[in-house]
Amino acid sequence: MQYSGLLMLFLVLFIVVVYTLLYVVILRDQHRELENLTRQETRIISDYLADSARDELQGLGSQELVLAGVDQFFYYVTNAEGTFVTGSETMPHMREELFELVSGWVPEKNQIREETLQVTFDERRIGGREIKDVPKSDTVRLMIDGSPIFYNGQFVGMIYIGKDISFAYQLFKWLLIVLVSLAVLFAGVAVWMSYLMSKKAMGPISTAFQRQKEFVGDASHELRTPLSVMLSSIDAMEMTDGIEEDPFAKKLLRNMKSEVKRMTGLVSDLLVLARADSGAAERTLEQLDVRAEAANVIESLTPHAESNGVSLGLEAPGDLLVLGDRARVKQLMYILLDNAVKYSPDGGLVEMKLSQSDRYWTMAVSDQGIGIHPDDQPRIFDRFFRSDKSRTRTVGGHGLGLSIAKWIAGIHGGTITVESEPDKGSTFIVQIPNEQAVST
Ligand code: ADP
Repeated sequence: MQYSGLLMLFLVLFIVVVYTLLYVVILRDQHRELENLTRQETRIISDYLADSARDELQGLGSQELVLAGVDQFFYYVTNAEGTFVTGSETMPHMREELFELVSGWVPEKNQIREETLQVTFDERRIGGREIKDVPKSDTVRLMIDGSPIFYNGQFVGMIYIGKDISFAYQLFKWLLIVLVSLAVLFAGVAVWMSYLMSKKAMGPISTAFQRQKEFVGDASHELRTPLSVMLSSIDAMEMTDGIEEDPFAKKLLRNMKSEVKRMTGLVSDLLVLARADSGAAERTLEQLDVRAEAANVIESLTPHAESNGVSLGLEAPGDLLVLGDRARVKQLMYILLDNAVKYSPDGGLVEMKLSQSDRYWTMAVSDQGIGIHPDDQPRIFDRFFRSDKSRTRTVGGHGLGLSIAKWIAGIHGGTITVESEPDKGSTFIVQIPNEQAVST
């Protein structure tokens, strides 16, 4: 995206430069041409005055001067008072408007004017025949120059010459269209090329990433078996005669058991996320009674909550039927309730509220616990993020629960957000659309 953007920027810059250059060069060329023409015709008139030894322009016939080129639109000669003496134009019916443009104008040194004129073609004829299908009117761009005429050092009149430069503007218009079309075409090619190139460059990285994900998945899977063997061995050891009487051995076994359990939890969380990353995790949609599922999770968590002095509550409509992956939705409920219990003080209340609107069903889990600092709130869904790392030993957890919760909400097309105030409590809100795109 960045490379394409940069390329497009250069392209736009290139167009602006080319266009401006052409604009300046072409207009300057027109300027010069018009100036030369004016100079030349001024000289012709001066010569005429000298030849006929006259000090006034009256009587100068249009035969003395001719329209010098196809793009010369008009020329007018005025006397010292500014009265029309002679002139000619390509559109005689417009003399009044054209003369109006220059009448009384005394150009400053090297001043050239540009005017836009609406001309009518009513009288346009070829060989006395009116041309059909020509526009009734058109806009003509004129470049006008004026020059004083002197005879024996005395000002005797002015000559004004108008040149039609509409073609130049027509050219600019087409040039712009062509340049912009080319830019769009090249921009498309640039984006496409960047996409192909970045895909090629990303190849080895995605392969390495894929391998790493597979490794985490495989490693987690392989770790589960020895862990469960260890757990059952510890259970067996605890039941061995004589252990009860040895407080040191008992303590060691208890510690080992809790560490193995923690590790089992971590490994299974890692496995879930590794499967999620590799896209191997499947979502099995079925009709769920969310209220019943919530009651079930709460019931299984109650002993744990009570041992921490926390009470659990559920508020939900009579029945709340939705489409979802039963195991995942339960896991999501479990993560949020478990966190709420973990971070609640003794005597705290944890509540789960379920509700449904036309488009969404919502689950809000609130507690009166330690809350989350505003700076940490955007990060708590990141993997391995924990607000207070020193609590790991006391409350357990590895900072993966909320990442899994977010993933579960995501695979259901939903969102998870948090509202929290330190020392007041937190509310986690999960919002999931009622309609589920049925795919895995
Ligand atoms: P953990 O296993 O550490 O609980 P989570 O991913 O579930 O990992 O949560 C990440 C962090 O978010 C926690 O370490 C904790 O700091 C914060 N957190 C999550 N839930 C709550 C809550 N209900 N109250 C206060 N802090 C919370």
